[in-house]
Amino acid sequence: MKTTPTSQDRCRALLEELSRFIDGELTGAERRSMVRHLHSCPCCQHLAHGLKQTVDLCQKAGATRLPGDLRTRARARITMLLASGAPARRRS
Ligand SMILES: [Zn+2]
Repeated sequence: MKTTPTSQDRCRALLEELSRFIDGELTGAERRSMVRHLHSCPCCQHLAHGLKQTVDLCQKAGATRLPGDLRTRARARITMLLASGAPARRRS
């Protein structure tokens, strides 16, 4: 049997989901799973909060979709976090 994913694995998966969240591509179940993790993980909570603020700001400004430029920057930030924050993948 496989071992349970570490919290780092979960965080990494969540970051990838956040990218889809920004694009509005997450299903209800995926969003719930994400929120559950956020409640138990201050690190991801902080990250998601910052990104959500950016998204909310845009929506309040009247944009139904994020401007491509902002989306690109948000994605770039997530990619950077994935590259720097996550430890090298272990193959055991
Ligand atoms: Zn996390």
